[in-house]
Amino acid sequence: MKFICDVMLGRLARYLRILGLDAIYIKNYKDLAHIVDKDSKYFFFTKRTKNTPKGSILIKSDHVKEQLKEILPVIRDYLDENSFFTRCLSCNTLLVHIDRGEIEGLVPEYVFHNQLEFKKCLLCNKIYWSGTHIAHMEAWVGELLSNKLVENK
Ligand SMILES: [Zn+2]
Repeated sequence: MKFICDVMLGRLARYLRILGLDAIYIKNYKDLAHIVDKDSKYFFFTKRTKNTPKGSILIKSDHVKEQLKEILPVIRDYLDENSFFTRCLSCNTLLVHIDRGEIEGLVPEYVFHNQLEFKKCLLCNKIYWSGTHIAHMEAWVGELLSNKLVENK
């Protein structure tokens, strides 16, 4: 299943990637035709209200966490905790594990000395590690899945 985010939903695409979903960001909805064929399974998240293509889901909020609440019923069945933090936030590529020895000098020194596990995007060369921002994200994802965020209106 692909989760395609229309222009204006770039942050949403990044959050979906954090959640391990195959999230594609397009700048023009006409590009949709190049990404999917008639047999493709996808959802198209958009703020567009006219001329919406097949599979469109209208996003109302301008805030990413509210947007995630809106689409939670759609994405819930595709969420798998083992897939969280496995995609590059920038380009959606699946990350690969990389030996610490290979990244010395490529990340800040305190990160190199304090983190054990590193992942790399082979397409755009970004390096990821489990910093505190990921700990915060994990707490937040847990809340999202337990519906707490949905109730906190
Ligand atoms: Zn990348």
